[in-house]
Amino acid sequence: MEDLKDFGEPSEFWQYFYEITKIPRCSTHEDKIREYIREEAEKLGYQTEIDAIKNLVVRIPSSRDSGGNKIGVVLQSHMDMVCEKNENIHHDFSIDPLKLKTIEIDNEKWLTAEGTTLGADNGVGIAYQLAIMKKIHDGSLNFDDLDLDLFFTVDEERGLSGASQMDKNLISGKYLLNLDSEEDDRFTIGCAGGRVFRAEVNCEKKLISNPNLRAVKISISGLFGGHSGTDINKNRGNALKILTEIIWKLNSNFNILLNSLEGGNLTNAIPREAHAIFFIEQSQKNELETFLEDLIPKIKILYEGTDSNLNISIYLLKDFTDKTTFSKDFQNKLVDLFYLMPNGPISLHPTSVGLVHTSLNFAVVHTLENKIEFKVSTRSLTQYDKDTLFEKLKLLLKTSGLDINIEIITLYPSWPPIFDSKLTEISKQVYKNTFNEDVIIQAIHAGLECAFFSHYYPDMEMISLGPDVLGGHSPDERLNIRSVSKIWKFLLALLKNLA
Ligand SMILES: [Zn+2]
Repeated sequence: MEDLKDFGEPSEFWQYFYEITKIPRCSTHEDKIREYIREEAEKLGYQTEIDAIKNLVVRIPSSRDSGGNKIGVVLQSHMDMVCEKNENIHHDFSIDPLKLKTIEIDNEKWLTAEGTTLGADNGVGIAYQLAIMKKIHDGSLNFDDLDLDLFFTVDEERGLSGASQMDKNLISGKYLLNLDSEEDDRFTIGCAGGRVFRAEVNCEKKLISNPNLRAVKISISGLFGGHSGTDINKNRGNALKILTEIIWKLNSNFNILLNSLEGGNLTNAIPREAHAIFFIEQSQKNELETFLEDLIPKIKILYEGTDSNLNISIYLLKDFTDKTTFSKDFQNKLVDLFYLMPNGPISLHPTSVGLVHTSLNFAVVHTLENKIEFKVSTRSLTQYDKDTLFEKLKLLLKTSGLDINIEIITLYPSWPPIFDSKLTEISKQVYKNTFNEDVIIQAIHAGLECAFFSHYYPDMEMISLGPDVLGGHSPDERLNIRSVSKIWKFLLALLKNLA
C-alpha cells in the first residue's frame, strides 16, 4: 500500500478515509464509527448530539458572534457500509480492518479493498465531513457566514431507518448536501417514493374427480430481472406478467382447471421466474400445444434484444399428487385480475426526457393452502401520483369481485425534483466556473435518504453528490482517486458561494 499522502488534496481526507477503513461499521453496527467521529469532533471542541435512533450531528457554528445573514448548511453522509466479501477470503467485518490496495484501470488510479467491499459508500462522505471540520479548526478553511451541521446517519443500506426515524430537531438549515452519490459529473436532485403492498385473496380449493385430467406445468425462465426502480424502463420481461397473460388466453380458449401460480421473490426485483400448474383433459392436450406454438413466438418478439433468453416451457407432470383446483368462478376472477394488473413504467416525467415518473412492479405471487398471496411495488416522483396509482389499484382489486385483504408493507416519501431550485442553479454555476464544463442534473427512480429529509424539512433545498465509485455493494467496489480531489474542490467552492 503506497502512502495515502501521495493521493492528492486534501491529505486530511485520505488520513480520515484510511482510519475509517479500520473501524467496523456494517449496517446496524455503527457504534464504533459513531464513537470515533464523536471523539474527533469533541477533541477539536465541537458540540455533538445523538438522537434516539443513534444518528450523530457535529455542530460547527459560524465564527461571527452575532447578527448578519448566517446561513445553515447540513453536510450529510451515512455511517454504515455494505459488508460483502468474496467466498475465498477470510475476513471478519466485526473486527478486521479492510486491506487497501491501489489498482490502475484505463490509466486511472483507483483505491479498492482486497476481497471485500471498500466502504467508499459512504466512507468518502464521512472523510469529506471530517476533513472540512479539521481544516476549519486549524484555520486553513473559513466559512464565516455558515452554520454547519455535519450529519451522520445510521443504517442507510439496510432500510433507511436512520433517515426515516431521525429526530426532526437534530438538524436545521437552508441547504443540505448529501455526500452519497457516486458519479462526479452528475448531481441528483430528486428520487421516487414508494409503496409496497401485500394482498391476500381468500379461496377454497376442491379435489378433482375426473380421471381423464392431466396435470400440466408451464414455466417462464431465462429473464434478466433487475432493480424494480432503476431497471423498470428497460423493457425487461416480468415473469409473472408473461405467465398470467398466457394463462388468461388458455383460460379463455380451453377448459383448464388451475392448481397453482408461483413466481417472484423480492419486491424490489423484477421477477425472473414463474410457473403455473393446471389440469386439462387428455383429449385437449394436442390442441393446447398447437395453440401455444402459435402464441409463444408472438410474446418472445416483444422482448427481442432486451430479454432474448426468455424461455417458456410446457410439459406434463407424470406423478403430480396435489389433485386440487380453484372453483371455476374464482379462477376466472383471479386470472382476469392478474391479466389486467398494470406493470412497468406508468408515466414519464413531463419535462425531464426519459425519466420515469411513476411505475409498478408486479413482484410476487404464491399459492397457499386457502389463499393466494401477491405483492406489488409502486414508485413515483410525486406523492399525488403515488396515491392516485394506489387508488386505481384498490379499485381494480374491488371490481375483481374477489375477497381480498391488503396490507401496506413499505411506504416512503419521494424527493420531488426541482430542476430550477436556487441550490441547483448555484451548483451548476459553481461547477461550470470550477471545471469549465456542465454538470448533469438528474432525478432517479429509486429511494434515497434525501426523500425523508425533504419530507421532514420541505423548505430545505438539497442535492446529492460524490466522487466516482464503481462496483458499489460488491467486493469490486473501487474509488477513483483523482475524482476525490475534484469533488473536494467543488465542495469548497460551493460552500463559499452559499455564504
Ligand atoms: Zn450509500
